[in-house]
Amino acid sequence: MSGDKHPRVQLVAGEMPIYRLHNLSEDLGVNLYIKRDDLAGAPFGGNKARQLEYYLGAAQAERADAIFITGAVQSNFVRTAAAAARSLGMKPIVQLEDRVPGMGVAYHASGNVLLLRILGAEIVRFPEGENEEEADAALRLRARQLRGEGARPYVIPLSAGNPPLGALGYMRAAEEIAAQAPDFDFVIVPSGSGLTHAGLLAGLREAGSQARVIGSCVRRTASSQAERLGVVLEGLARLAGGASFSPDLPVHLWDGALAPGYGKVGDAVVDAMKMLARREGILLDPVYSAKALAAIPALISAGTIPKTSRVLFVHTGGLAATFGYRDVLEAAF
Ligand SMILES: *Cc1c(COP(=O)(O)O)cnc(C)c1O
Repeated sequence: MSGDKHPRVQLVAGEMPIYRLHNLSEDLGVNLYIKRDDLAGAPFGGNKARQLEYYLGAAQAERADAIFITGAVQSNFVRTAAAAARSLGMKPIVQLEDRVPGMGVAYHASGNVLLLRILGAEIVRFPEGENEEEADAALRLRARQLRGEGARPYVIPLSAGNPPLGALGYMRAAEEIAAQAPDFDFVIVPSGSGLTHAGLLAGLREAGSQARVIGSCVRRTASSQAERLGVVLEGLARLAGGASFSPDLPVHLWDGALAPGYGKVGDAVVDAMKMLARREGILLDPVYSAKALAAIPALISAGTIPKTSRVLFVHTGGLAATFGYRDVLEAAF
């Protein structure tokens, strides 16, 4: 793969399985498969383990002694980074952004936050909510202070202009998918930072697959997410250097489950969680994977996904956050 010149540490052991969801395939009239990336880098694994293989690889190459990362309070990225940092003997320092207003005690104390405490991560607060650029600026400022104190932190920022190292992890995943089952018509994935979406899109094209990758928006509307994907794909083409994909690949997005906003649970989330749990016995998280699965019945009804298509749902994990959403989910179930 074209990203292979970048340093990488192994956080995901082996291939994650793909198999057919027989009950839902029958219900929906398509051939529905699942890629179990929720098992990647278990326990409570997910897509961030694949992305972090490259960030931690870079950190190790720089001889960093700490990982400093920013994310939402219930961020899976932050929690997975903290665990990965510990496994490599680095200290986890995390900045938690108060992006989701009006949440209760469980959101701020259980789920991923509780796991961060067990992992002994140092927690810095960023109370300003939705302000990605400022959150990254605060991260860099604190990193400078830490360096002044003699620490060697490796900083993982989130805003779109940074080199999308994490997307290289999903180019690798795409290669794995293409080798496991080459002929999907549609691949459905959540689209947040866009690194998973962009990496899969670029990697599948590089592997010769023409599957249409549809990103389900979890943080921004389809039009602003399309702009972000453009930036990420350009960055990825630069990183992957000599890649055989064009940075202006067609980007497909659906934002029908985004409401009422990032990290907020609407009816589409509850219906998707119920559908996969009760028909297949597989759990989804309320922030990302449920919003992605919700795209499938909606796009079948809309005719975008024709009956009998081969559809792959990429389960990106996030289950630990479920416990942070206890109050909201108790009311819904
Ligand atoms: C972060 C996350 C996503 C979104 O992935 P991006 O690469 O940021 O777009 C999807 N699912 C889960 C469970 C996540 O934690």
